[in-house]
Parts: sequence; C-alpha cells; structure tokens
Amino acid sequence: MSETMKAAFFVEPGKMAVEEVPKARLEKDDDAVVRVVRACVCGSDLWYFRGLSGHPKHSQIGHESIGVVEEVGPEVTSVKPGDFVVLPFPYSCGKCPVCKAGFESVCPHGGYFGASQAEYVRVPEADGTVVKVPGSPEDYDDATLASLLSIADVMSTGYHAAVSAEVKPGDTAVVMGDGAVGLCGVLSAHMLGAKRIIAMSRHKDRAALAREFGATDIVAERDQAAIDKVLEMTGGYGADAVLECVGSKQSFDTAIGLIRRGGVIGRVGLPHDVEISAEGTFYGNIGIKGGPAPVRHYDLNGLLDAVVNHEINPGRVFTAEYDLDHIQDAYEAMDQRKVIKALIRF
Ligand SMILES: [Zn+2]
Ligand SMILES: [Zn+2]
Repeated sequence: MSETMKAAFFVEPGKMAVEEVPKARLEKDDDAVVRVVRACVCGSDLWYFRGLSGHPKHSQIGHESIGVVEEVGPEVTSVKPGDFVVLPFPYSCGKCPVCKAGFESVCPHGGYFGASQAEYVRVPEADGTVVKVPGSPEDYDDATLASLLSIADVMSTGYHAAVSAEVKPGDTAVVMGDGAVGLCGVLSAHMLGAKRIIAMSRHKDRAALAREFGATDIVAERDQAAIDKVLEMTGGYGADAVLECVGSKQSFDTAIGLIRRGGVIGRVGLPHDVEISAEGTFYGNIGIKGGPAPVRHYDLNGLLDAVVNHEINPGRVFTAEYDLDHIQDAYEAMDQRKVIKALIRF
C-alpha cells in the first residue's frame, strides 16, 4: 500500500479543498523530499483564487515552505534526512552561468514550486535549491520560524525590489504595495540605508507594520494625487528609488510618475497589463530592473543570518495562522484583507 499525505487543492476560483493524495516521493536522483513544517498563502495565489489569472482546476498549489528533509536521492550531497531547510519558491540547478551570476530564480534548468501547501514536497535539483538552516525546527521559536518562512519568498522578494531599485544610504525610497512583499520591501530599503521611506498604504494595520519596519511616511493617496504628494515631499524631483511590489498598471504608472530622473524602479510585482513607454523612460533616464527574486542568492548572502541572529523580524507579516484543514479560511481571510499573510502550521 502506498503512503498518502494531505494536500491543499485549488478547486476553482473561490474554492479550496484538502485531499488525501499519494505522498510526494523521489523521482530523480537529485531530488529530495521535505516534510513541511510551515507553509503559507501567497498574494500571487490570490490571483487564482479571485479568478483574475488562470490556474488548472483541481490542482495542487503553493510555493512557500520550510521543513525537514525526509529522504534524498543518491546524487544529493548538500543535505541529508533530518536537516532543516528553507525551500525558495524557485528551484534551480545552482551551477549554470545564470545561477552563478546570482539569478537562480530564472535558471534555465529550474522552475517554480507549485504544490507546497501539502504535508510533503518533492524538491527537484535539491543541491541547487535548498537553503540549509542550522539546527532543527525545535530549536526556534514561532516568531523565528515565521521569519524563516518569509525568506522562502516575500522577504527575499521585497529585498530584490530594494536591491533592483539600487537603494543607497541616504536615499528617499517609495514602496508601492502594502501587502507582505511591499512591507518586506520597506524593511529591505531600511536595511540598505534609505533615509526616508515612503510607504503607499491606506490600511491602518499595514501602515502600522510599515512604520515598525522603518517607513518614515505613509501616503494614502493614489494615482496622480500620490504622484503630486511625493513630488511635493521631494522638492519636485521625485524619489531616488521606487520599489514596485504590486504589478498592476495603476501601480506602475504611479511609479513612473514619481521616480526621480535618473532613478531606478525595482519591480517584483507580477505584471498585469503593464505598458512601459520606451520614450518616456528614455527621456527620464529611468532604469527598470527586477523580476522573480533570486531567493536562494539573498538567503545565502545575508538574509538567513539576519533572521537567525534576530536582526530582522520579517515574519511579522504573518498575522494569522491556520492548519491545512482550514485552507479555505486562510485564503478567504487574505482575500478579504482580514490578515496580511496567512501561515499554515503543520
Ligand atoms: Zn509567493
Ligand atoms: Zn542554473
């Protein structure tokens, strides 16, 4: 009899389910299987839940998790059963020129996890993918586990926005988006030394967390009013750096409107109907960088240590937790903005 596990399923927009399926298993020699300890719902999962983006009906879902290695294929050398790992949302070979340049998230031999809201996850290309955490989950308190989970995606993605926007000490940075990624973007801009951090938010709970993460100003206005406000705050010049953490046309147009000439927009929001004017950005010398965050690169080069040493607490973005059986509630709460980000505890 084959073993089974519980897994979340996207049934159709607005409807999740939990089903018993065959347990994740090794399929290739460089695979690992990880027993999930914490997973979560992503803002990008909501695009499917809301029916705004297509996703195969009745399919597994989820791409953010941390857990304990259950078994490894014969080619895996970097981890062994019992090791505690963060699973970055992209998997990657770890050895091609793209990975070596620090862009594992777009490794031509890699891909993205899509079944992490489950008791077990199959990890392809384990050596090039996992981020090993010292010790075991029992060595960490809940807050630290939540922060470790955040560096599987949102914190690393917010950090990628700040790095891509080339935030420098003394800068004025604007963060578009007050979801978990945007809030982590605020924290990241703060880590990189931005002096003034303007968070765009019209939700009290999110604005409060933005301030805790280092935001100096909150702007509730939108569109032209938001542009006018930031221009007014910057002597008419605009922000040195913009972290675009939404991906909508509205957000991007606003970012273009308030970036200083010669500034860079770091974009990590998945683009939906965004059009960028080649001419407009040309005459402003405006840089646009970013894409899927190379999570592993940032985790291994500072973020893991910063979390383990309690220098940052990005896990604060998780404002409610659920068990897998209540996955529907987790999605609904995020969809209705009752929680900033929903954690799934196993
Ligand atoms: Zn995500
Ligand atoms: Zn690669």
